[in-house]
Amino acid sequence: MQFLFPVPASSIVTQSFAEHVHRAKVNNWTNYNGGIDWAVPSGSPIAAAQDGTVSTVRNDATGYGTHVRIQHAEGYLTIYGHLMDFNVRVGDKVKAGQVIGRSDNTGNSTGPHLHFELRKNNVAVDPAPLLTTFLPAGGEPGGGMPGGGQPGGGMPGGEQPGPGGEMPGGEIPIGEEPQSFPLMPRARVISNIGLNVRMGPGVSHPIVGWLPPETQVEVLRKADAESVVGSGGAANDLWLQIGHQQFIAQRVAGEVYAVWAPLPPPAAPKPRRRRKKSG
Ligand SMILES: [Zn+2]
Repeated sequence: MQFLFPVPASSIVTQSFAEHVHRAKVNNWTNYNGGIDWAVPSGSPIAAAQDGTVSTVRNDATGYGTHVRIQHAEGYLTIYGHLMDFNVRVGDKVKAGQVIGRSDNTGNSTGPHLHFELRKNNVAVDPAPLLTTFLPAGGEPGGGMPGGGQPGGGMPGGEQPGPGGEMPGGEIPIGEEPQSFPLMPRARVISNIGLNVRMGPGVSHPIVGWLPPETQVEVLRKADAESVVGSGGAANDLWLQIGHQQFIAQRVAGEVYAVWAPLPPPAAPKPRRRRKKSG
């Protein structure tokens, strides 16, 4: 079974499933499930990821905050956390892509985002490989959220075949890749007209989003050379994967579009309060 992105597919992932799980481990959180966090402005419409039946709607002050759970076929369950509100009731049948509420920052949340969980038979699984913008059967064609994240949505200002815009001239170093796990390395968009997000590591892949200049994104991995060559690129091109089927150019044909960003200083320990579910 596949699932639609509950937010526009171009939304920035601020915490991956693996990071959620890792964070739980290092903090000895037992009652904690992985998910994906996407940064979305408060009030953004949140869509059901698949057809299903609403099983829970809650207004909690802690944990997931205001949240909705939807039971799907094949033992799948999705959870939408930290919402502002919802427009569904327990027992409602919802369709994939249907707006079920608005995002916010309720519960244990450090900023406006959607915490999205996928469980199969009550075990959390990484939603990323199952997320799509289009469901071939049963779902809403296009998988679109109202007003955003449409695949093929390109650069403002028209045709842009390349990975980004013109850089101010000269060789720009890409910086040093940060290594201090568990924080994910981040890249900063330096192209002054922003940078396309593509479905794969190469300019031949379709555009699925766009990052404004100076945006910082977490990098899941560097794309390997084979896939770069296979996509019509040059051997010394560098591409960075920032989400499921989301890639940005770091260096293409000698032009640098994104540089490594320094990691933020580690957060101060909080001896008294331990958050069970957050982020
Ligand atoms: Zn989260």
